[in-house]
Amino acid sequence: MKETDFLVIGSGIAGLTYALKVANKFPDKKILIMTKAAADETNTKYAQGGVAVVNDLENDSFEKHIDDTLIAGDGLCNKAVVEIVVKEGVDRVRELIEWGARFDKEKDGDFKLGKEGGHSEFRIIHHKDITGWEMERALLEAVNAQENIEIIKHCFVVDIITQHHLGYLVIKSSPDIECYGVYALNLMTNRIEKILAKTTLLATGGNGQVYRTTTNPSIATGDGVAMVYRAKGRIENMEFIQFHPTALYEPGLRGQAFLITEAVRGDGGILRNKDGEAFMEKYDSRKDLAPRDIVARAIDSEMKRTGTEHVWLDCRHFTKEKFTEHFPNIYEKCLSIGIDIEKNMIPVAPAAHYSCGGIKTDEWGRSSIRQLYACGECSSTGLHGANRLASNSLLEAMVFAHRCFVDVVEKINSLSYRDHVPDWNAQGTSEPKEMILITQSLKELQQVMSDYVGIVRNDIRLERAMSRLDLLWKETEQLYQGSSLSPQLLELRNQITVGYLIVKGATFRRESRGLHYNTDYPGKSELVQNIVL
Ligand SMILES: Cc1cc2nc3c(=O)[nH]c(=O)nc-3n(C[C@H](O)[C@H](O)[C@H](O)COP(=O)(O)OP(=O)(O)OC[C@H]3O[C@@H](n4cnc5c(N)ncnc54)[C@H](O)[C@@H]3O)c2cc1C
Repeated sequence: MKETDFLVIGSGIAGLTYALKVANKFPDKKILIMTKAAADETNTKYAQGGVAVVNDLENDSFEKHIDDTLIAGDGLCNKAVVEIVVKEGVDRVRELIEWGARFDKEKDGDFKLGKEGGHSEFRIIHHKDITGWEMERALLEAVNAQENIEIIKHCFVVDIITQHHLGYLVIKSSPDIECYGVYALNLMTNRIEKILAKTTLLATGGNGQVYRTTTNPSIATGDGVAMVYRAKGRIENMEFIQFHPTALYEPGLRGQAFLITEAVRGDGGILRNKDGEAFMEKYDSRKDLAPRDIVARAIDSEMKRTGTEHVWLDCRHFTKEKFTEHFPNIYEKCLSIGIDIEKNMIPVAPAAHYSCGGIKTDEWGRSSIRQLYACGECSSTGLHGANRLASNSLLEAMVFAHRCFVDVVEKINSLSYRDHVPDWNAQGTSEPKEMILITQSLKELQQVMSDYVGIVRNDIRLERAMSRLDLLWKETEQLYQGSSLSPQLLELRNQITVGYLIVKGATFRRESRGLHYNTDYPGKSELVQNIVL
C-alpha cells in the first residue's frame, strides 16, 4: 500500500503540467504520477500541428479565437470556459516555454504561426511537425528534475476507490461520492496495489482505440472515463468523436495510423478525389480549410461515391525545401513507404482522432466525485462543445491543469486519508486460458464502432451497435469476474464501456450537430443540450 497527498494518473501534458505546479508549490509533499506504459507513451507525444494561442495582437485577437472556437463547437460550447481557455492560455504557454519547450521562430524572433481548419487567423505555434514530442520532452525533463515527484511506470489503474469499496451502496444519484485513491495492477509484479490519496487527478487521455483505425497510440483506451462511469460519476457528450480527415492510408493497417497534420492543408495542400478533382469546393466555401467534421464527411462521401478507400492529398506544388522546413517528419515517413511528395500524391483517409466529451468537470476541473479532478482529453470542460477547434486541446489541458492546481492548493490541508479501505480481492480468479477471447472481442468492438458509429450514423446502425455491444459486454464481464487481471482484459472492458457511452450519447442525440451526423435527423434540434450519462 502507498499513501500520497497528490495522485496523478497519466503522464501526458495534463498530468505532468499539474504535477509540476503542485510539486513547486509544496516542496515538502510527495506527488505520485502513475502511468500504464512508458512515461512518454501518450497522445501528447504524437501531437503534430501545435498549440492555438493568440500572440500577434496586430492581426489577431482573443475575440477572434473565441469566435472560431464557438463556431466550431456548433452551439454547445460553454462560452465562459472558452473565454477562460483562450485568455489564460497565453500565460500557460509562457510557463511551458520557461520549463524548456521550444517553438519555431521567424528570423526577427517572433513565433512562426501556422493555420488550421476553422481558424480565421494564423495562430498555431509549433515545433516543426513534432510539437507534442517537444512538449512532452520538456515536461518530462522538468518533472524528472523535481525531487518530490515520483513516476511509477507500467502500472495500470483499474478503478478509483469510493464508498462502494467500503461496502456502502453508491448509485448515480448519490450526492456525496468520494474518491480515496485507486487500485492499480503493477505490470512488473502482476500484483494489485492499493494507493490511498487525499486528492486524485485523472489525466488518462483519449479513446481512439475504440475504433479500427485511429491516430491515437495504443494507450488511448478511455480508461479514465470508464472508471468514472463505473464509480457512478458524470460523463458528458461522448457521441462527439472527432475523425481526423487526413490520416495516412496504408492498406490493411489496424490501430494507430500516421497523421498528416491539418497544417499541411494550412500551408496549401489540396485534397483530390480518385479523378484528380479538388472536391472540397463542392462542400464548403472554406474549401480544404473548412472545420474537420465538414472535411471528414466530404472525404467519406467522396470515398463512398467513387468506391475507394482513400482520397489524395496533393503537395506536389511544394518544393522539398519548403515542405521539409515545416514537416520533416511527415516527409521522411512518406518517403519510407515510397511516396516522394514532389512527385506523388499522399493517400489519406479519416481516422478516429479526438474525444470531445468525457468526464464532466466544472471550471476548476472538479468532477462530480469529491477529491477527484479530471483534466486533458479525458475531461469534458465545455470548451469543445460539439466539435473541437484544431489545436485547442493542448491549450485546454494546460489551462485546466493550472485550474485544478489552484483549486487543490486551497483544499489540501483540510483533507485526510480514508481509513479501513480493503485490499483488492482476487479470490476465485485464475489466469484466462485463451487470449483469443479478448483479442477477438476487441476486433469485433472496433469493427462495430467503425462501421455503425463512425462519421455518418443512423438509428438502425446505432440500434445494431448497441445490441452487439451488449453481448460483448456480457461475455467480457463473465471473463472479468473469473480471471486474474491483465492489461488486455482491463482495456477491453474499458473500451466496451466507452463504446457503450458513445452509442448511448449518439442514440439520445436526435439531431445532427457538430461531429454527430445522423441521416435520420439531418437538421439541428431547437433544444440545445449536453447529454450527460
Ligand atoms: C496524432 C495526434 C496529433 C495531435 N495533434 C494535436 C495538435 O496539433 N494540437 C492539439 O492541441 N492537440 C493535438 N492532438 C490531441 C492532443 O495531443 C491530446 O488531446 C492531448 O495530448 C491529450 O493529453 P492528455 O494529457 O490528456 O493525455 P495523454 O497525453 O494521452 O496521456 C494519457 C496518459 O494516461 C495514461 N493512462 C491512461 N490510462 C491509464 C490507466 N488505466 N492507468 C495508468 N495510466 C493510464 C497513459 O499511459 C498516458 O500516460 C493530437 C493527438 C494525436 C493522437
